[in-house]
Amino acid sequence: MKLARFQGNRLGLVEGERVRDVTLALDDLPAPRWPLPIGDLVIAHLDRLRPRIDALAPSQPTLALASLPLDSPIANPGKILGAPVNYRDHAAEAKADSGIAQGRTVKTLKDWGVFQKATSALAGPAQGVKLRFPDQRNDHEVELVAVIGKTGTNIAARQALDHVAGYAVGLDMTLRGPEFPGLRKSIDSYAVLGPWLTTADEIADPQALDLRLAVNGVERQRANTREMTMGVAELIEYASRYFTLHPGDLIYTGTPAGVGPVRAGDVIEAGIAGLGVMRIAVRDAG
Ligand code: MN
Repeated sequence: MKLARFQGNRLGLVEGERVRDVTLALDDLPAPRWPLPIGDLVIAHLDRLRPRIDALAPSQPTLALASLPLDSPIANPGKILGAPVNYRDHAAEAKADSGIAQGRTVKTLKDWGVFQKATSALAGPAQGVKLRFPDQRNDHEVELVAVIGKTGTNIAARQALDHVAGYAVGLDMTLRGPEFPGLRKSIDSYAVLGPWLTTADEIADPQALDLRLAVNGVERQRANTREMTMGVAELIEYASRYFTLHPGDLIYTGTPAGVGPVRAGDVIEAGIAGLGVMRIAVRDAG
């Protein structure tokens, strides 16, 4: 199942070149009161929603996918995690590029651990990227994103994929500089997610997916998720040793070589086989 969000609060079922508006399925969700539960309401109740969506779909109207501006498929992640230097070729590039290394010794993911991006950085392809500090380097990083489906802590790698609701394409936008990643990668719109959520049952092996990014039609990044040093299951095990993972938490799993700067006016195309392609306009925040 491929689930998109549009017009802020509408739920769409992606069917080829059409999107079926299945927003009515959300009528079954509980209406939470303060204090709100941690995590995303749709993802927390996805097992209940899926049969409702299937039953409703044939009677619901469709829209053309190509002309529909898409929001982040996950509306309310409790956490956005990121894996630094999770592809060997990007580690080599980071060591060789002083604009990335910024005088630091480039270490491994196991030395640094995962970092967090602010949830306010989340954007869909429709919102695009709004650059701050345009005189500094703002780099694109295409990444597979795993969406956590159920609550868990100290999750063993061999069970970890059972905790994944689905996958999406992520763009981990990164301002280069000496500050901690949690600051530089948390600028509004620097965590793009889309174009929709593909549920985990449609992805036989998350470590066998081709990913690609182009800027203005020129390819910059091309790799396969098998080249990760820590796979999705190991990242979930690692992160959940430190904190509980909740439905809707996002894990940006790291980027391969080819990262580079973008400027206002650029159009980024980021895609992963089986998960779709998103086109993202880059502007100055002003
Ligand atoms: Mn990254």
